[in-house]
Amino acid sequence: MKALGFLRRLAPRLRPHVWAISAASVLILLSSAIGLAFPLFVRDLFDAAFLESNADRLDQYAILLLALFAVQAVVNFAQSYLTAAVSERVIATLRIDLFAALASQTPGFYSNRRVGELSSRIASDAGLVQQVLRFGIPELLRQAVFLVGALVIVTLTSPRLTLVTLTAIPFAIGVAWFFGIRVRRISTGIQDTLAAAVARAEQVFTQIRVVQSFGREPYERGRFELEVEETYRGGLRRAVARASLTGAVTFTAFAAIVLVFWEGGRLVLAGQLTFGTLIAFLLYAMSIAGAISSVAGFWTNVQEAAGAARRIFEHLDREPAIRDPLTPRSLPTPITGRVRFDGVTFRYGNDLPLVLEGFDLDIQPGETVALVGSSGAGKSTVAALIPRFFDVEDGSVSVDGVDVRELRLDDLRGVIGIVPQEPMLFAGTVRENLLYGRLDATKAEVVRAAKAAHAHEFISGFPDGYDQAVGERGVTLSGGQRQRMAIARVMLKRPSILILDEASSSLDAESERLVQDALARLMEDRTTLVIAHRLSTVIEADRIVVIDGGRIVDIGRHAELLDRSSVYSRLYRGQFEAALASVEASGG
Ligand code: ADP
Repeated sequence: MKALGFLRRLAPRLRPHVWAISAASVLILLSSAIGLAFPLFVRDLFDAAFLESNADRLDQYAILLLALFAVQAVVNFAQSYLTAAVSERVIATLRIDLFAALASQTPGFYSNRRVGELSSRIASDAGLVQQVLRFGIPELLRQAVFLVGALVIVTLTSPRLTLVTLTAIPFAIGVAWFFGIRVRRISTGIQDTLAAAVARAEQVFTQIRVVQSFGREPYERGRFELEVEETYRGGLRRAVARASLTGAVTFTAFAAIVLVFWEGGRLVLAGQLTFGTLIAFLLYAMSIAGAISSVAGFWTNVQEAAGAARRIFEHLDREPAIRDPLTPRSLPTPITGRVRFDGVTFRYGNDLPLVLEGFDLDIQPGETVALVGSSGAGKSTVAALIPRFFDVEDGSVSVDGVDVRELRLDDLRGVIGIVPQEPMLFAGTVRENLLYGRLDATKAEVVRAAKAAHAHEFISGFPDGYDQAVGERGVTLSGGQRQRMAIARVMLKRPSILILDEASSSLDAESERLVQDALARLMEDRTTLVIAHRLSTVIEADRIVVIDGGRIVDIGRHAELLDRSSVYSRLYRGQFEAALASVEASGG
């Protein structure tokens, strides 16, 4: 019964449907009762109509039985509809909750997992649970009721024949148990390998250019094949287990029927049993056998669903590592936009090395601070701590003097705008992508933001303008266009604090100029932290912060740093000099 434990977890979700579930249960009882009554009518039919050669009685019984089965059909329809309605509702809600639970996990959670695997929790695992609510459990109930009723009736009819029948039951149950557990184990394995294969496929699809540029289609096909072949072998093993189950149970059932026929026939011959009773008994025995075998079948489904439910609840139960505080403080309105790091120590995991150590930085309202440092120095990490994508291990990050851990995430993130290095667009229209910045922005505001970000020009060039589909199954935007879209989106949001992660690869000169100009407008009157890759950015920054190995090695303006900081001059020669040369060549 451990497998039914997941129903306890589902109970709060089933409770609102208690009336529908009760009604369905009553209908199941009714339908079982009709099934139970059928052999009794058959008995009377044989004993009364045939033995007395009464044709009128035969007609009456035929009509009565037809009516009975008509009623049963209606009852079954109603029950089937009710269980479908409840299970669809419960699973829809479960899927929504699972999505919400997953979406509230931290970026750290996602960097340790494969997205495809999480998607399959929402799709196939939830599907398995739904099937069991829809069919498995109602059928188990129906068969169980039928089984108990039939056993009572046959015991009353002929204890001796009942005893003969019952010898088969322990055997059938033993077989069902043994193979049922096996089927569940194999199924869990299949689900897991399938999830892994699907996850791999998703990665290949999203990185199709990398795959094709290396000509790795055959390699990927090989990897995929390995995993799918594994599920194939699992499927075969499950088929063997299932077929063994069905075969063994069916044989047991028919063996029992033969036994009853043999023993019952002798009783009829000895005049201790009427012929009608033997027929009725046989009908019961067959139905009992049928009930037992279908209980076994549905039981394996329940086992599968139990595994699926366990995986779903594992995610539902997982508290996000970063949550709203119990007693949040509020930010002053309007905020000034001061951002301060105070002795921040941070690492990505307990067993990973420190990324930041005793990091102090005080960014004044409206100031533009450029972070420079070699790759892996910790620049992105510094930026990720402000919107609290991760929590510090020691020290604190504060906005307008309030520790970010004391703020509601919505409040904190509401005042921060981020332009990522490689902005991605959602599949949808241009407008939908821009409105992501502020859902209730008016059409005029959207256009104004797009104009300020130099995005309006190319958007107007699209056949459908702002309603142009972009991203998946839409037009593909260039890197510079995507950046300007990202800038417009943040403009709509109107954050007080801006985090820019500059693209390290340079755009063509015209694009570059448009992006720079858009960024300059975006940065006006905003506190800005920019992970700098462009010379113009570092030259214009109020302060340049040089990071090396998670520590600040120097702070200053371009000229002074060039004079005194060896780390900065090295970076400058590597990253910025080429850009400088081109600026000088053009007389800038
Ligand atoms: P930068 O932006 O300066 O290139 P990062 O802040 O991205 O540097 O990285 C700093 C260090 O933290 C690097 O050693 C990097 O490998 C490590 N790191 C970055 N992100 C993660 C992560 N999600 N999990 C584990 N380590 C990470």
